[in-house]
Amino acid sequence: MTPSPFPVTSNKLMSINDRPAEVFVRGEGAWLWDAAGNRNLDWLQGWAVNALGHCPSVVLQALQKQSALLLTPSPALHNEPSLKLAETLCAASGFDQVFFGSTGAEANEGAIKLARKWGRVHRGGAYEIITFHNAFHGRNLATMAASGKAGWDALFPPYMPGFVKAQFNNISSVQSALSERTVAIMLEPVQGEAGVYPATVEFINALRQLCDAHGLLLIFDEVQTGCARLGQLFAFQHYGVQPDIMTLGKGLGAGVPISALLAKQHCSVFEHGDQGGTYAGNPLMSAVGLAVLNVLSQPEFLQHVRDMGAYLRKGLEKTSQDHHLGEVRGEGLLLALELGHNNAADVVHACRKNGLLVNAPRPHCLRLMPRLNSTEGEIEEGLLRLKKTLSTTAINGMHP
Ligand code: PMP
Repeated sequence: MTPSPFPVTSNKLMSINDRPAEVFVRGEGAWLWDAAGNRNLDWLQGWAVNALGHCPSVVLQALQKQSALLLTPSPALHNEPSLKLAETLCAASGFDQVFFGSTGAEANEGAIKLARKWGRVHRGGAYEIITFHNAFHGRNLATMAASGKAGWDALFPPYMPGFVKAQFNNISSVQSALSERTVAIMLEPVQGEAGVYPATVEFINALRQLCDAHGLLLIFDEVQTGCARLGQLFAFQHYGVQPDIMTLGKGLGAGVPISALLAKQHCSVFEHGDQGGTYAGNPLMSAVGLAVLNVLSQPEFLQHVRDMGAYLRKGLEKTSQDHHLGEVRGEGLLLALELGHNNAADVVHACRKNGLLVNAPRPHCLRLMPRLNSTEGEIEEGLLRLKKTLSTTAINGMHP
């Protein structure tokens, strides 16, 4: 790999994480190029955002067409793309109403507000939401408090109250967390940032029963699992359980910022002034969301995701066997490979040197999030690069 001709000398960007020195300049489909011309097979895809890969024509065309018509009239005025997207999304999901935002955190913050409002109106002021250890719901103050990342409660005191933590996949710990203040249970059907840990079907069903028995709302954060990532349009379809509230983000815009908060009629209780945002439902992003959703919701497309997910899983299982690694977890094209050592950062680095972009949500595992329209050839290529990395690189704790 030749060094980038763009040395990263600027200190004007706040340093918020440890980024590699390369500067990335162009993306096409499964591939991402840096300024030095190195081509990387991208299994990050913007953190499961680019559902259709880099710069897909469906997104470019929607942007071109809509940007020549209307960018942002005002969130106080109706626009055609957001009305159409609301209709299409509700029809596809079975939800009754939607609020559009820009990020997953914004959609989740909206879900928390909606549950608290519903508690005030219908449950005598109940406001507590049961969330889960290791959960990830976003980085604004409310969603950080809803998240269960170790240490986050101490980062920006005072910590926002109103969230009680339970153990994922452990129904009795949820029962123990219940009180008369409880208004909702909120979870990711697959805990992505925690290292791709799926909820069991039994757990999700038990949560639904618990919510029904105690008059609670069930909230699914499908920012990562929604929009076809698991091979169904939404993860709740995979589980066969209907939540009352669902949030979407990432794949809905397939590379542009749009998110959604969806609610069933009985809990869609926002009144004028409760919720809003300058960019809420702006036509440019809504037009993209509509075009993307039309692709993702095709039955053949969803079948393709399931097929490619199975193909990648099989390859990862073989890789794991050959290199004496751990389990392969996940569903569809949201998969993790357990390494068995806390060396994932080194493996990620070594993969990048071999032109494969993957990430390590936890020190002991890799997460793979290829584009949903991946081909078998791309998956073979990615597996090849991963195997090459594992067999030629002396990585701490591993024997090449
Ligand atoms: N919820 C989940 C499940 C996520 O995975 C993420 C992002 N990783 C978020 C919420 C936050 O989304 P955003 O970064 O767009 O605010």
